[in-house]
Parts: sequence; C-alpha cells; structure tokens
Amino acid sequence: MKTLSDLDLKGKRVLVRVDFNVPLHTGANGETVLGDDTRVRAALSTINAIREAGGKTILMSHLGRPKGGPDPQFSLQPVAHHLATLLNAPVAFSAETTGPAVADQIAALPEGGVLVLENTRFLAGETKNDENLARDLAALADVYVNDAFGSAHRAHASTEGVTRFVGTTGVGLLMQREVEYLRKLLKNPEHPFVAILGGAKVSDKIGVIEALLEKVDTLLIGGAMSYTFLKALGHEVGSSKYEEDKLEEARSLFKRAEGRILLPVDHLVAAAFDNDAPQRVVEGGIPEGQMALDIGPDTLAHYRTIVLNAQTVVWNGPMGVFEMPNFARGTFGIAEALAEATEKGALTVVGGGDSVAAITQSGFEDRISHVSTGGGAMLEFLEGHTLPGVAALD
Ligand code: ADP
Ligand code: MG
Repeated sequence: MKTLSDLDLKGKRVLVRVDFNVPLHTGANGETVLGDDTRVRAALSTINAIREAGGKTILMSHLGRPKGGPDPQFSLQPVAHHLATLLNAPVAFSAETTGPAVADQIAALPEGGVLVLENTRFLAGETKNDENLARDLAALADVYVNDAFGSAHRAHASTEGVTRFVGTTGVGLLMQREVEYLRKLLKNPEHPFVAILGGAKVSDKIGVIEALLEKVDTLLIGGAMSYTFLKALGHEVGSSKYEEDKLEEARSLFKRAEGRILLPVDHLVAAAFDNDAPQRVVEGGIPEGQMALDIGPDTLAHYRTIVLNAQTVVWNGPMGVFEMPNFARGTFGIAEALAEATEKGALTVVGGGDSVAAITQSGFEDRISHVSTGGGAMLEFLEGHTLPGVAALD
C-alpha cells in the first residue's frame, strides 16, 4: 500500500475519496447550514500534503442518502465553500461528478489547486459499484488516493471500482493512521488486552464480540447490551432495553468466553427514559418498572481498575444513555480511564458514531491514542473482515 510520501504528485491530477458526509441543518431562512465540520477538518492534512507536493487535488465524497438522482439538499457545494475558508485558499466546485466539463475544469486548475466534485451518490452507479462510472471517475485522475476510512467497508464505484482503472493508487494520511492503529490491535496487541463494548444492541455487535473473544483477555460489557446478557443469565432487568431474540446467542457467547466477559454489577435506574426522572443505584436485579440507563458506581470502579491495568484497550459503544447528562457518568468515567491508561503507556482506540460523540463530549478525546473516524468500518475491521476500500489499494 503506497502512502502519500511514496507518490510522485507534482503536476498530477490526484483524485481523492474523502469523507465529507457532514451533518446538514436547515437554517432560519431555509438555507442549508453545515453542522459539525470535524470530517472536513480531518481531511486538511491530506489536502495540504498534495497541494505542497504540487498536485491538483480533486475531492469526491458522498453526502447523505439522496434518493434517485441529484437533490440540492445534499449538494457538496456548501462543504466546498467551507473548505475554502478552512484552507484559506480558493476551492473550485463542479456541479457534475464526471464528464468532459469536469475534465476541462481540472485541466484549468493550477498546480496546487483544489476542486470539489458534486456528491457521488447523485449517480446511480455509485452504490452499485458500476464499472462505467468507475471508468468515468478514473478518467479524471492520474493518481487515486483513498482517505475515507468510514466508507472503506463499502465496495462502491468511488471506493473500490475506480481503483481498477487508475494506474497509481495510495492511502491518504487519515486512512493510513486508521489502518496502522487498527492493525496494531489485531496483529500483535500487548497484553493485557481489554475490549469494552456497549451501546444499543447486542445484535449489531455479535460478530465483533466473537472476533474479539479470540484476542482479548477481558471483555467489559456496558450499555443496553448488558441487559440482554443479564436477562439471558436469569437476572431481572425490569423495563431495561434488551433483545428477546438474542437471549440464546448471548447465553452461548457468555459461556464460550469462560469468565472473560464481565457484566455490570450495579446500575443507575429510573422509572422513565428521561434525563430528569429521579434516579437511584441498584445492585443485582433491576426492579419491575425500573430501567437501567447507565452502569453503576461499583461497575465503573471495577472496569476502571481493569482498564488501568491494560496495555491495549479498544472501546466501542457508550455505557449508558450519555445523551442525557444525568446518565453520562459511566460513559465519561470510562473515557477518563482510557485517558489515564494512555498516559500510563497503553495503546487505546475508540470508535463508533455515538462513541466518538461521547468521547468528544467527555473532553478526553485528545488523551486517547486513536479515535477512529469509521463506525461501521471499524467494527467490520475488528470482526476480521477485509475492507474492500482498503484491500483495493494493496
Ligand atoms: P456506536 O454508534 O458508538 O457504535 P451504538 O449505536 O451501538 O454505539 O449505541 C449508542 C446508543 O446506545 C446511544 O444512543 C445510547 O443512548 C444507547 N444506550 C446506551 N446504553 C443504553 C441503555 N442502558 N438503555 C438504552 N439505550 C442505551
Ligand atoms: Mg450508533
């Protein structure tokens, strides 16, 4: 796999798949307003490296889920505009994604210039990995670079197909970092290796649990996922969220883990799914009419000790409903434990859409070894699946 520094970019048309799938809102006057721009900022290092090397940067991305063709609501134009501000340099925009007009625009671009193409998902061939679209995209480029780790688990025309028709391909700086950290986790992790899994559902993460059980010394479970396990083991879970159809699977996973799966021993419960609902800590069974919305203090203390003893830690899935500040203590406490473990020399990795939001809110983001930008992609990587967008660059 070639990295940017391995590539000769001077004067070259460098087609870069980025992840500009940013949240958009409608402003007071009906205009489109860009939400959190983390993903745009994350691409700056790769873009600047190409500019400094004298390449022409041609950026493409998907944005949202437009149905059946172009939809101005999902245009990348506002993102291109914002990028110009961040780069403090002109950024051209092409209302088309492929074709002769785009090729002309690229030809007119100076060395070091930047062009953003319109949303790849406006084209039906994108998600179908259509060969003609892949060829059309490739026709725009001398070099293809993929920097969109979050889309690497999908074999789309802009992530996989295109690589078959461009002679030179490589990874961007973001993607390089993602792959390096995640490979470290799976190849030769230092022990003790601890995984923490939480979040909404066991069903989303059965594959990950199975794969991680092959690698880790301890698997700490939190979040709503806990209650499927606890219920499966015969505990009362009150009205906590759990998955009836996954009880059997949870029981069998727990058994197979031979003591390496730990479950919460106490919980923060309330009678309603409401930040202001009166809360209390319960140990053992959860009474009828009560739902667990966070792990309890004893569980947090125990999990912390285990994390602080680890040399490698991977975390996906919040420990509770952290979106409600009164039930965020468990999640933020784990975030703090990871930060402390990192300072003691452990390798720590956090990923997942909601988990990343949680770690950002916790304020510990900068004290973690690596915060992954890929939700689904990271989970698939941890499951041991080959990511088409990564494999295509090998
Ligand atoms: P990620 O996006 O990081 O992979 P998930 O999507 O699996 O995480 O889960 C995140 C969601 O799980 C959050 O919205 C959070 O509110 C929810 N959650 C965590 N614990 C509980 C709980 N005890 N009850 C209900 N929902 C929970
Ligand atoms: Mg999620």
